[in-house]
Amino acid sequence: MSMPQPGDPASRRCPQCGQSMYWTERAVLRAEPFAGTLADIESGAPYLDAYRCANGHTSRECPLCGSYDTTAWIDEAESYYHVICDACGNDSVVPR
Ligand SMILES: [Zn+2]
Ligand SMILES: [Zn+2]
Repeated sequence: MSMPQPGDPASRRCPQCGQSMYWTERAVLRAEPFAGTLADIESGAPYLDAYRCANGHTSRECPLCGSYDTTAWIDEAESYYHVICDACGNDSVVPR
């Protein structure tokens, strides 16, 4: 399994605004030391690559492996995101 390349479209539209999302380098400021690849952590890079839409929304972090190589949608009750991780295959439900 390989990481997306910059400009690659996500398989789903932004769950917040419906715009197309594209893989963007350094799109997210890392919040937790856990998140990101080992190389990122070792280099101290504060930003992670993620899918981002034209309105600046970014993909959700996989709660299992920390990757932003995910697609998400909001469930019918609109209180949770379903997050599918393309890096580890995990299907998560996370609060909005
Ligand atoms: Zn958006
Ligand atoms: Zn994952």
